[in-house]
Parts: sequence; C-alpha cells; structure tokens
Amino acid sequence: MSNIDHWIDGRLVASESGRTSPVYNPATGEITAQVGLASVAEVDAAVAAAKNAFPAWRATSLSRRAEVMFNFRQLVNENRVFISELISREHGKVPSDAAGELARGLENVEFACGIPAMLKGGYSESVSTGVDVYSIRQPLGVVAGITPFNFPAMVPMWMFANAIATGNSFILKPSEKDPSISLYLAELLAKAGVPAGVFNVVQGDKVAVDRILEHPDIAAVSFVGSTPIAKYIYTTGTANGKRVQALGGAKNHMVVLPDADIEMAADAAVSAAYGSAGERCMAISVVVAVGDAGNPLVAAIAKRLPAIKVGPGTDPSNEMGPVITAEHRDKVAGYLEGAPGEGATVVVDGRKAALPADGFFIGVSLIDNLKPDMKVYQEEIFGPVLGVIRVATFDEAVALINEHQYGNGTAIFTRDGGAARQFQFEINVGMVGINVPIPVPVAYYSFGGWKSSIFGDSNMYGPAGVDFYTRTKTVTSRWPDPATSSIDLGFPGTR
Ligand code: NAD
Repeated sequence: MSNIDHWIDGRLVASESGRTSPVYNPATGEITAQVGLASVAEVDAAVAAAKNAFPAWRATSLSRRAEVMFNFRQLVNENRVFISELISREHGKVPSDAAGELARGLENVEFACGIPAMLKGGYSESVSTGVDVYSIRQPLGVVAGITPFNFPAMVPMWMFANAIATGNSFILKPSEKDPSISLYLAELLAKAGVPAGVFNVVQGDKVAVDRILEHPDIAAVSFVGSTPIAKYIYTTGTANGKRVQALGGAKNHMVVLPDADIEMAADAAVSAAYGSAGERCMAISVVVAVGDAGNPLVAAIAKRLPAIKVGPGTDPSNEMGPVITAEHRDKVAGYLEGAPGEGATVVVDGRKAALPADGFFIGVSLIDNLKPDMKVYQEEIFGPVLGVIRVATFDEAVALINEHQYGNGTAIFTRDGGAARQFQFEINVGMVGINVPIPVPVAYYSFGGWKSSIFGDSNMYGPAGVDFYTRTKTVTSRWPDPATSSIDLGFPGTR
C-alpha cells in the first residue's frame, strides 16, 4: 500500500502522526493508497519552513516571480494528460472533464504571470507643498489554503497562483479524499523555480485545519468547501485575527422562460447538472420552469438522459464517472428515496440505472414537482440529481431564488433581453449566466457567491485574489531643504 506524504521545505516528508485515511479509486471501489494525516507538529514544521522562506521570496524581483509562473504553466501543460488521469483516478471524474478543470485552473496561473502589472501602486505628486504620496502592495507572509475534494487541481490554483506571485509563502491543506495531485503540483512548482518552503502541502483532516486556524504565524486563510465548515473556518480564523475568505456550498437554479429555445435549454441543463456527477459547486441542481415551459422542458431533459454514458474514466467514451465515496452515493440515494414522500415526482431514478458492479456509481436522476419547503429542494445534494420546480411567472422565479439560503450561481434561458437584464438586476446571487448554464468567471474577474455560499467579504482569485493576498502601505514623502525646517504643533495641513 503506497503512502501519500506531505511536501515541506521543498521535499516529500512522510507523516509520522500514526493517523492515516484511505484513498479510493471511486471507479473501482479499491483502496489505492493511504494518506498521512498531519499532527500539530507537522503543520508547525510546514509553517516554520514557509516563514523561513518568506523574506527571500518577497524580495525576489517581480520579473523573476512572473517567470516562475510562466515556467509552471509550461510544465503543467506538458504534463496535462498525466495530471488529468491522476485526477480521474482519485476523484472519479472522467479525464476529459479533469482536463477541463486543469485548463480553468491554469488560467489563474496565466493571470498570475501578469503580476507585475497587477502590483502597480498609485502615486500622487504635490499633495502638499513638496510632499508626495504613494501606495504599495506588500505580501502578508505565510498564508494557507484549505480545499475541497471536487476540484483537486483547480481550486488550489485559484489560491496559490496569486498567493505566491504576490510574494507570500503558502501552505496547502488539500482534501484527504484526493490528495496526490497536490504533491505532483508541488514537484512542478519546484521544477519551475519556486524556492523550497515557498509552497508546502500538509495532508490532513480537522487536526491540521484547526492548527492552521490558530497558528500565530499564518496571516490569512482561504477556504473552499461545504457551508458548515466554511462558516466554522471564517468564525474561528477571524477570531484568531486572520484574514479569511471562505466559500461554501450551493444550490444553483436555472430559470427557463417560456420564450426560450427548449431544446437548447435542455442541452444546457443536462450538461450543467450531470457533468462531474453533479459534484460541482456551480452545477445546475434546480431548473425553474416558468409558465408553459414546464412540460416540454421536462420531456426534453428526460429524453436525453438514457444516452448519457456512465462508467469509469478509463473508457474514453464515458461521459460521467462515479461519486466520491460509497457514503456519498448512499446520501444521494437517500434524497431519491425521500422525494416521493415529500410530494415530488421521480421521473428518472438513477438508483435503477444499469451501472458497473464495482465503484461508487449512481445513475442520473430527474425529479419533477419540487416545492420550496422540501428537503430535496432546500439542501445541496452534490450528486447527479436535477430537480424541476414549476412557477407561473418571472417574478415568482426571482422571488424563489432570492429566498433560497444559497446564492452561488444561477442562470436564465430566454430570448428576451429585457427579461435577462431584469433578472441580472434583481437576483441575489453572486454569479449569473445569461444563456450560459455554468457562469464560472474567467480568471481575470473574481469568483464568489452570495448568502450562505460565502463567508467574509473577499471573493476568490483575479483582482480580488491579489487584494486578499496583499496589504496596502501608503507612504507620505518629503525631501525639504533643512534650512526651511521649523517646529509646528498644528495638525499637518495640505493647503
Ligand atoms: P468539506 O467542507 O467536507 O471539506 C473541505 C475541506 O475542509 C477539506 O480540506 C476537509 O479536509 C476540511 N474539513 C472537512 N471537515 C472539517 C472539519 N470538521 N473541520 C475542519 N476541516 C474540515 O467539502 P468537500 O466535501 O470536500 O467539498 C464539497 C463541498 O464544497 C460542496 O458543498 C461544494 O458546494 C463546496 N464547494 C464550493 C465551491 C465554491 O466555490 N463555493 C467550490 C467547490 C466546492
């Protein structure tokens, strides 16, 4: 049985905590490795390495930091087939989907290649006689990222690309469910020229997370994961004086107005609901069918489902893999079990699909006639289950979405530009798609939901990421002739 280690101070370090967690291949159900779960001392060793590396790294020129990011981008690109297969083996998503994750992650590295331009400060000449003021952006020091299982390459890249490029040193605590990718990225970062200690990986669970949250030498924590943990990370991290951005779960609605092209809307809903077996925080999990759209839309979606090929990623013709664990598969099945009792209609039941005998597979499901008070509507299922809720009007659709606890992403399908603009104006959701079902912002914007999908004021990556990983210093400067010097106890004026 192979062991999955930490990466501390530029090398692999075996965990000595004595605690481990099994790592599965979700497509076969086999345990493929065990990951060491860090002790407090192991987290402390990583933080010490990061702290030690910080002064030289922050003093490294912007051109060199950008060059290292360019090198890393090249190395990831050269190895993208291998990385996609590695993601597929531990996560279960099919390699073509993993390649998509990697490409979107890499866009954050491309953004970070432009860090010299992003770190330009402001300068005001003559704010008072002979006095100039300028602002500069400086890194925070040691910063940490805690990431979920569902994007084991992309979400770490959302964080570490900007964190490192802005001059911080970084500790990644990946999900213990698919921990290998982080080590491979660490190797590539080292090859790209990231000095030892600037990027570290501690594998682990709550013990490692809690140590990160309380460690006095960690200045900031980025988190992506489920809402209860995001809330915990935010409250605990900020209580310990850290800067925290914590992104949580989602329930993303796709509104289909009666004027929409129903076939196009059905294609979009199916793609966005079942890709990556629904284990995406931006997956569409509820279609809101307005007026007459309901019957044709449900029929069009149901018609497409038998054609979706479910199976292991080792067969390139498969479009959807398993979910992450047997427990999660059973949890998803539990929602299907409970739906009829709540009054919903299970149109397609993924539990009944013909599936590979091994592995954590569940087929695609479609549930109609959801109502706002149902558990199957309220909660994030995070599996290949698409619900349909029917409403009479556009205003009802907007009110429904605005009342939901989550506000990560949403989409509207329509041919009516005025309705789309009204939707964008009124909807209380952080990321909106207009005829785009998965509106994940490109890397030079920033990512973040509203309501229970985020804790803290800072969105992730892009310009918000640069802000998060830096602090502003403002310098007021004067080079006077000493002969003009005098004492003046009044408050400094500018006129
Ligand atoms: P999770 O919250 O279980 O785990 C996320 C991280 O927190 C992992 O590194 C895990 O080890 C750690 N963790 C888990 N339990 C903990 C505890 N009790 N104390 C301290 N740390 C703990 O999430 P997951 O199952 O890995 O990922 C799926 C969730 O992430 C879904 O809810 C999904 O919507 C969300 N997600 C959100 C976004 C976003 O951008 N908003 C993106 C991806 C995933």
